[in-house]
Formats: sequence, structure tokens, C-alpha cells
Amino acid sequence: MENCVADRATSARFLDNVHENDAVENASLAFSKKIGNISLKKRRIRVMTRNLIILGSGPAGLTAAIYAARSNRAPLVIEGIQPGGQLTITADVENYPGFPDAITGPQLMDGMRRQAVRFGAEIISGNVSSVDFSKRPFVINVDNDRHEASAVIIATGATAQWLGLESEKKLIGKGVSGCATCDAFFFRDQNVVVVGGGDTALEDAMFLTKFAKMVTVVHRRDELRATKILQDRAKSNPKIKFAWKKVVDDILDVKQGKVTAVRLKDVESKNISEMKCDGVFVAIGYKPNTELLKGQIALDEKGYIVTKKSTMETSIPGVFAAGDVQDSYYKQAITAAGTGCMAAIDAERYLSVV
Ligand SMILES: Cc1cc2nc3c(=O)[nH]c(=O)nc-3n(C[C@H](O)[C@H](O)[C@H](O)COP(=O)(O)OP(=O)(O)OC[C@H]3O[C@@H](n4cnc5c(N)ncnc54)[C@H](O)[C@@H]3O)c2cc1C
Repeated sequence: MENCVADRATSARFLDNVHENDAVENASLAFSKKIGNISLKKRRIRVMTRNLIILGSGPAGLTAAIYAARSNRAPLVIEGIQPGGQLTITADVENYPGFPDAITGPQLMDGMRRQAVRFGAEIISGNVSSVDFSKRPFVINVDNDRHEASAVIIATGATAQWLGLESEKKLIGKGVSGCATCDAFFFRDQNVVVVGGGDTALEDAMFLTKFAKMVTVVHRRDELRATKILQDRAKSNPKIKFAWKKVVDDILDVKQGKVTAVRLKDVESKNISEMKCDGVFVAIGYKPNTELLKGQIALDEKGYIVTKKSTMETSIPGVFAAGDVQDSYYKQAITAAGTGCMAAIDAERYLSVV
């Protein structure tokens, strides 16, 4: 294991040397070397320099790609482990403008992808493993490939935290949701459960009361993490009740392909009870996909990328951010697409003067 880490570190240094000695772009390099007891395996490493590289292929990344391609910048999109982003795991999207009869998440993302490619964006599979924004051009490593770019747009999104139940996975889009703003409308006069105890859970619960008959907030503790003002509002709302010290143990009914009830486990007595409901909203948090950016770029206390007011500029000139990775509040496909457009326009202005 130690050797493995050392091997990677030495290999990365060696790569830099190779590149410094050989400034040819798009070069294919093969090498082998032995340093002490560490053997560097023969590897093929390609170095490619672009005007613009976009990290992520959700609504933010693909919208940025459409705009950048139409500015003749032939952007490269690195699509990551979830091609198309979060919307690919949802069924009907009813709030994206232009689709009065709804469109499925995968269809919407397929359309964005084809539109980006049509104008000259190149989309490749792969996950960015590390970046170096201290160098110009910027360095982006994807598996064995090293890419370089004059400008970068980060659109790696955020990952909704789920309960991790098999039934939850099978019922997403069939009564299980991670987004009250998106899906509350489907639960008119129905009974729903919100899981969580923070601000998002209570905001979701209050939003849901506009449609649902009754909202039950299931929380593992006997007090909430949410701010006092939200707690007061939620507790005084006649359509909201609380199930304290309970966790969701299972969601029924996978066989019927819809939500009919939740099985709740008492955290102290471990007793199991069943509560009938028509929907489950999981509101236990989001994690921005910024792990690889730590130490490279300014992040806020929750890990979201900090962008400058009214632009998509980050703390590094030439690096821009769009979508959920820099937005802990709106978290919608249309806002992701809107900021993707802004980032591409900002990047174009930057590229035209460097
Ligand atoms: C179940 C569900 C239903 C939803 N329904 C709606 C709805 O009806 N309407 C609505 O407006 N919004 C909805 N949303 C929210 C919406 O999906 C998001 O706001 C939107 O997808 C954010 O877009 P994004 O491009 O910022 O990021 P994402 O869609 O999260 O895309 C991130 C992209 O980055 C890539 N990536 C991540 N890490 C790396 C890496 N290291 N290297 C390269 N690429 C990487 C991923 O592969 C992915 O392609 C829903 C969300 C969920 C989870």
C-alpha cells in the first residue's frame, strides 16, 4: 500500500518532468523507470490542451457546453460517473420550461447532450481524479489521461444523501423523492413523510403542506437541528406532525411499484411500527462534489464552491463554476442550466482576452 502511494507520487512528479521537457501538445508518451525499489510500470499518458474543459454532464455542464460550442471553443466535457447528472434517476420533470406535458429526466438530458454535440462539444467518459489550478494551463487528470485547459468550468453537482435502503432505490420517482420543490405537486390531498431534522426538512415539510393532507416529519432525535424560527413555524402548522426518535427501516411497497407505507424503528426500544403514507421525501442533506477541489479553490464551510457576486467566477481567474456545486439553496435543473450559460459566457470573455 505504501509502495503504491509512493509509486503514484513519484509517477506524478515524473509526469511533470516529461511534460516540461516535451512541450508538444496532444503527445502520446510511454515510459518506464526504476527509482530505488519502486518500479514505475510502463504507462501510456496522453496530454491534451484545450481552450475549455467542462467537468460534469448534468444540466449545468451540458448547457455550458452548448454555449461554449456555439462560441466556437470546441469544449471538452468530462462526464463523470453519472452521465446526464441527477435528473437521470427521476421520472417526470414537470417544471422545466418548454415541456407543458412533462418530459422524463433521461429524455431531457439526452436532448441537452445531443444539442451540445451538434454544435461541436466533445464528450468523454471518465471521472476527474485530481486537478492542479496553480499551473497555467490548468491541469486535469482523468485516469491515465492528463488534460490541460486555458479555462475550466466546474459543474460536478451535488449528491443527495439517501437513506441507503434497497426499497428506497427502487421507489425513487415512484413516491420517493429528494426534492419537495420538484415533486410536492404530485401529492395533492395525500399523506407524506419527510425524513430529517434540519432546515431543509422543515422547509420541505412546510412547502408540502400546500398540497398534502398531512405531513409527518420523521426524526431520529427528540429535538430538531433546524433554526428556531423554522421550528416554531413547523410546530405551529396544523398539517405537520412529528414522529420523534424514529428511523425509516423500510419503505413499502416495492411489489406494487408505489409507496404505501413506511416501516419505522424506534431508536431506543427498537420496536417496529408501520405508518401508511403515499410519499416519502428524504431531506437529510446534500454533499457538493468538491472533494477533489480541496486546497485548489475557495469553498464555503459546507464545501460548496464560492463564486463572485453576479458572475460564475471562482477564486481562481479562468476557473468558473455552475449548477448545484456552487448552489446550496435553489438546486433546480433550470437554475443549474442558467448558471451553466452564465459560466460559458464568463469563460468566453476570459478566453477572448488571455
Ligand atoms: C430524484 C431527483 C429528482 C429531481 N427532480 C427535479 C425536477 O423535477 N426538476 C428540477 O428542476 N430539478 C430536479 N432535481 C434537481 C436537479 O436534478 C439538480 O438541481 C440538477 O441536476 C443539478 O444540475 P448540475 O448540472 O449542477 O449537477 P448534476 O445533475 O448533479 O450533475 C453533476 C455531473 O457532474 C459529474 N461529476 C461529478 N463528479 C465528477 C468528477 N470527479 N469528474 C467528472 N464529472 C463529475 C456527474 O457525473 C454528473 O454528470 C431532482 C434531483 C433529484 C435527485
